[in-house]
Amino acid sequence: MSAARTVSIFGSTGSIGTSALSVIEHANAESDRPIYSVDTLSAGQNVSLLIEQARRLKPNHVVIADEQLLSDLRDGLSDLDITVAAGRGAIIEAATRPVDRLLAAIVGIDGLPSTFAAIEAGNSVALANKESMVCAGPLLNRLAAQKQVAIVPTDSEHNAMFQVMERREDIARLILTGSGGPFRTLPAKELEHVTPERALSHPRWTMGRKISIDSATLFNKGLELIEASYLFDVPEDQIDVVIHPQSIVHSAVAYRDGSVLAQMGVPDMRTPISHALTWPERRQETPVEPLDLIALSQLDFEAPDSDRFPSVGLCRSAIRAGNAAPTVLNCANEGAVAAFLAGQCRFLDISWIVEMALERFLAGPMACEDCDSLEAVLAVQAEAERLTSALLDDVKRQKQERRA
Ligand code: NDP
Repeated sequence: MSAARTVSIFGSTGSIGTSALSVIEHANAESDRPIYSVDTLSAGQNVSLLIEQARRLKPNHVVIADEQLLSDLRDGLSDLDITVAAGRGAIIEAATRPVDRLLAAIVGIDGLPSTFAAIEAGNSVALANKESMVCAGPLLNRLAAQKQVAIVPTDSEHNAMFQVMERREDIARLILTGSGGPFRTLPAKELEHVTPERALSHPRWTMGRKISIDSATLFNKGLELIEASYLFDVPEDQIDVVIHPQSIVHSAVAYRDGSVLAQMGVPDMRTPISHALTWPERRQETPVEPLDLIALSQLDFEAPDSDRFPSVGLCRSAIRAGNAAPTVLNCANEGAVAAFLAGQCRFLDISWIVEMALERFLAGPMACEDCDSLEAVLAVQAEAERLTSALLDDVKRQKQERRA
C-alpha cells in the first residue's frame, strides 16, 4: 500500500486554492485510504476561511501573510494539533518544509519568494502562479535543474501543452488558446467605458480578481506566452495565440511531421490541478464534469484582435527585449490592474501604463539589469513600481484637467 502524497497549498483561500482543496477532498473521499495528506495551507488575509479550511483538511501547519492576524489564527485552531505562523518570512519558511509537491497559487509577484524558497529547498512545485515564471523564468529553471526538482505547469494552457509534449527537438510551434475574455466582441469605443464589475465577469472561468482583469485586457494571454516561452524553452515567434471562445481545447503542440496534439476538457481548473499534483501519475478521479463533444457540436477559433488588445504584442516585445523587461511589464500590469480595480484609472489606461513603464525602464539606467538572482528581480520590481506609480499620477492629473 503506497503512502499518501504530501502536498502544501500556498494561496489556499483563492480560486485555485479552493479548487485544489476540492480535488484533495474528493480524491480522499473516493478512496479507502488517504491519497493526499496536507502539510501546509497558506493565505494572505482571509483568516476565517483559512481556519475553516484547516479544520476540514487537518494540515500540520497553517500560515497567514498578515502578521496582525496571528492571534485570530491561533485562537481559531487552539483545540487542534496544528502549528501556526504569520508574516511574509513565515510564508517563505513554510515553503521549505519537505513535501512531495507544493502548489504555488499565491497571486502576483508576491508568490515568487515562496516559490523560489520551495525549489531551493528541493520541493517539487505545481506552478499556478504565472507571475513567478514571467518575472524570474530563467532563474527558477536554473534553480530547479540544479536541485533536480520538477516544476509542473498548472496554468490550464501550460498544463495542456505539458500533457501533450513529446521531444523538445520535434516541436514546430506551440498553440496557446484563450477564450478572448468578456470583451472579445465589444467594439473599441465601448472599451473606454468598461467598469471593474463588467471586466470581472468572465464568460467561461471563475477566477480571482487580478487574473479576471488580465483576461479582459488579454494581458493574461501575453503573460502566458512569456510563461510558455520560459517553461518550454520555445522562442516567442514560435508560439501562436489563438482565440477559442468555448475553452475546450486548452492548448496544443504542433510537431514537425504535421501532427498537432491538443488537450481537451471542460473548462474547470480542477483537471490541471489534479494532474499537476499527481504527475507523473493520473489515477485520481476528480469531481469535474465529463466532456460531451456531441452536446458541444462546434468549436470555433479566431485570431486575436491586436488593435483592440495591444497586450499580447507588448508581451512579445518584452520577451524580445529580454533581461528585466518581462519583470517590468508584469509589475506595471499588477500596479495598473490594482489601480483600475480601485477606480483610479480606466480600463484602456492599463495597457498604456504598461507600455510607458516598459519604455521608461528601457531608456533608464537599469535597462540591462539581468534578473539572475532573487534580489535582482526584487530590485527591478521596486523600480517598476516606482515608474508605475509616477504614471498613475499622470493619469490622475489628466483626469483632473479633463474635469476642469
Ligand atoms: P486569488 O486572488 O483568487 O487567490 C490568491 C491567493 O493568494 C489567496 O489565497 C490570497 O489570500 C493569497 N495571497 C494574496 N496576496 C498574498 C500575499 N501577499 N502573500 C501571501 N498570500 C497572498 O487568485 P487566483 O487563485 O485566481 O490565482 C492564483 C494564481 O494562479 C495567479 O498567479 C493566477 O494567475 C494563477 N492562475 C489562476 C487561474 C484561475 O482560474 N483562477 C488559472 C490559471 C492560473 P487571501 O484570500 O487571504 O487574500
